[in-house]
Amino acid sequence: MTIAYLSLGSNSGDRFKLIQQAVNFLDLCENISLVRSSSLYETEPWGLKEQNWFLNAAVEIKTGLSAQDLLVKCQNIEKTLGRNRDQEIRWGERPLDIDIIFFGDEIINSDILTIPHKYMHKRAFVLVPLLELVPDFVHPVYKKTISKLYDDLENVEEVFLYGTRSYE
Ligand code: ATP
Ligand code: CA
Ligand code: CA
Repeated sequence: MTIAYLSLGSNSGDRFKLIQQAVNFLDLCENISLVRSSSLYETEPWGLKEQNWFLNAAVEIKTGLSAQDLLVKCQNIEKTLGRNRDQEIRWGERPLDIDIIFFGDEIINSDILTIPHKYMHKRAFVLVPLLELVPDFVHPVYKKTISKLYDDLENVEEVFLYGTRSYE
């Protein structure tokens, strides 16, 4: 069993419902169980500014899957909830994005998978939800805690707590 952290985001359609459904679908997958989830945050787009704001969250899961199989499950859920990569531009609008941020303390660099996620340390929308769950988790490559990575952010895009409604 591996503890993994996923970042979820949505900026088109019913963002709240999409995140809620994604988390439910993850928990329903054989070999994946939801352990904890962060609050929801409304966040300024990163990379490509002229688009709707996102809702973001982070979840802790426990899984018997390999990281590669977990990626496939995440991509299937994205697709089921309406994501069509053929019609997208990089970092543009999407109903759902699920990224694997950490997979235990494994370091993976393959054609399809980079773990820890390669931009996580530059993104407040990933670090702020993760801070709630694992502030002291040490990034296996940079050897810094989540708190330290957040303190070291150079560009901090806007991240606001989004209500108190539970989405689990
Ligand atoms: P970014 O990766 O910068 O957040 P994105 O999420 O918009 O951008 P996608 O179009 O969702 O990018 O995914 C592109 C590819 O990224 C996927 O096909 C997948 O193979 C690859 N990828 C590499 N590392 C990861 C990871 N840790 N989690 C999810 N996808 C990954
Ligand atoms: Ca992403
Ligand atoms: Ca992605």
